[in-house]
Amino acid sequence: MAEVKKLLNGYREFYKKYYESGNTLYRDLTRHGQSPKTLIIACSDSRVDPSIITEAQPGDIFVVRNVANLVPPYQISDSSLHGVSAALEFAVRILDVNHIVVLGHSHCAGVKALLEQGRTEHTDFIGRWVSIATKARDKVLSEQGDAKEPAEHRCEKECILLSLQNLTEFPWIQSKVQARELKLHGWYFSIEDGKLLEYNATSGEFVAIPQS
Ligand SMILES: [Zn+2]
Repeated sequence: MAEVKKLLNGYREFYKKYYESGNTLYRDLTRHGQSPKTLIIACSDSRVDPSIITEAQPGDIFVVRNVANLVPPYQISDSSLHGVSAALEFAVRILDVNHIVVLGHSHCAGVKALLEQGRTEHTDFIGRWVSIATKARDKVLSEQGDAKEPAEHRCEKECILLSLQNLTEFPWIQSKVQARELKLHGWYFSIEDGKLLEYNATSGEFVAIPQS
């Protein structure tokens, strides 16, 4: 129970900071509603919380998290449920965000599962979910011969690019991007050294964002 106690103590600190202190942030967010300008699609990994990494405040970012920060293809006729696509639609069409960031990271267990697909135990949901990025995996494995960095890292980055590509296939994202009302970004967080890299579409590379 110590873990839950720690979280509840955290909640008490949060309550003091945002409600008891007279801070009006949540009152304003209640009265005026939320209007985040950025949607971040991140992995569920406990080490890669977008709010912590960016020091975002309540109301700043709309967040979707899932295994390996994947955006599924635009498939309106598919009979399965589309949690990620519903969140995308809400952020883009209702909240009218100006930016979408796909935030990937190093040491991603979801990407590891993707790379080991077919070689690991059968899972109920993980294997099928990460198969969204099979194309990214195949690209990385076919290039393994001249790799400068481990396949895992290259695949983590390819998964970000695949999610960005899938985003552009949603018609209401595509039209806003073309109208320059919406910008897509690919970020890669390196857990071991805290570096944040940004995808540069011109050079086709992930480039480190200066720390100061
Ligand atoms: Zn991950």
